[in-house]
Amino acid sequence: MNEYDSNRIFDTVKKIGIVKTENLDETNIYLLNTCHIRDKAKEKVYHEIGRVKKNFRFKKKPIVIVAGCVAQAENNEMLKREPYIDIVIGPQSYHNINKKIEQYLDKQKKLNETEFDAISKFNYFKRIKNSSHKISSFLTIQEGCDKFCHFCVVPYTRGPEYSRSFNEIVDEAKILSENGVREITLLGQNVNAYNNENYKLSDLILEIEKIKQIKRIRYTTSHPRDMSDDLINVYSISKKLMPLVHLPVQSGSDKILKLMNRKHLISDYIKIYEKLKSINPKIEFSSDFIIAYPGEEEEDFKATFDLIKNIKFVNSFSFIFSPRPGTVASNLDLIDKKISLKRLEKVQKQLFEHQISMNKSLEGKEIKVLVENKTDESTKFFGKSEYMTSVIFDGNDQDVGEEIKVKINHSNQNTLFGEALNKSKKKVA
Ligand code: SF4
Repeated sequence: MNEYDSNRIFDTVKKIGIVKTENLDETNIYLLNTCHIRDKAKEKVYHEIGRVKKNFRFKKKPIVIVAGCVAQAENNEMLKREPYIDIVIGPQSYHNINKKIEQYLDKQKKLNETEFDAISKFNYFKRIKNSSHKISSFLTIQEGCDKFCHFCVVPYTRGPEYSRSFNEIVDEAKILSENGVREITLLGQNVNAYNNENYKLSDLILEIEKIKQIKRIRYTTSHPRDMSDDLINVYSISKKLMPLVHLPVQSGSDKILKLMNRKHLISDYIKIYEKLKSINPKIEFSSDFIIAYPGEEEEDFKATFDLIKNIKFVNSFSFIFSPRPGTVASNLDLIDKKISLKRLEKVQKQLFEHQISMNKSLEGKEIKVLVENKTDESTKFFGKSEYMTSVIFDGNDQDVGEEIKVKINHSNQNTLFGEALNKSKKKVA
């Protein structure tokens, strides 16, 4: 979501004549868009500001802006602790960024802009054209969360659930398609809770699918409680919704799910899995796992491990629990480090085995790839499989933006390697 937000911030500041630079030395405004999800997020921000400070020690200081969820969580604290920071701006206040920069230039006074005002934000942004032209782009449809899982900061940093207007989203998808975007990932902290005047995520998928240039649709991140039947059924109707379901489960133990306040049972999760598999056996699941959550005993861990073995998740994320300040779980007793690490290693070994064997099973086969670009070395091409696996292959310039067939010759844990089979039908001048 920060990638989407950063692009939209840039679409906004462009209006007051700000241009991007890759050269830190010539910067006169330095904006750091921060994420609070990972461990030590706050410290990383101060470390980065320290780097900028050092760089400008003998030069004119740039205006330093900290945006995003760390800014939201820390706000005034940040301005007090690091006087080098001039403006903090929360994720629901980006629409005010030009005003804040101008105010700062006028009065040279530190500014804190951390109101939760998602309605004004999206009302503002509907007038600012989204300039993203990457083949695969994000589109935020929903923000915030009302679920309050005990380990998570999102409800405190992004605020309550808010769903954007259906028509605005479809219009933005059309603009993206005109910019050259061919794959859209619909974004939300709780994306499948999307509900605007009774339009659901399923309605959005089916409407965006009508845009001819859009070839692939994905969504992330979803919650098991909001995997409604209409969304499940879209998998039997849609031609463009990809067959990879990223559905975080966090733990395989009902006891731990309860302690986490996840509001669903493992049996609910398995029902969703079975329904989707019966619609299309080719659908695969990926997930997020928190290992060694406070209270996790051997039998709870075993339940997680067994779930991983049964579902055979692909491309999952797994971390040892680490407390986030301000959350319910922040003061709970941590599980011994050695035990936590041992459990994480066991889980990751199993997850990676699935990933490797899935990739191996594709060797010698033809798969569909959406071609995104040339690789950095510019000798090969790069794209994604339907399951989000990176594919590197010998291809053609005119294939960029096309969905083509690639024969897979070999693979490793994260990447498939092959050669393009069919020339795209796109004409070159
Ligand atoms: S549903 Fe997701 S975003 Fe909401 S509190 Fe739980 S983990 Fe955080």
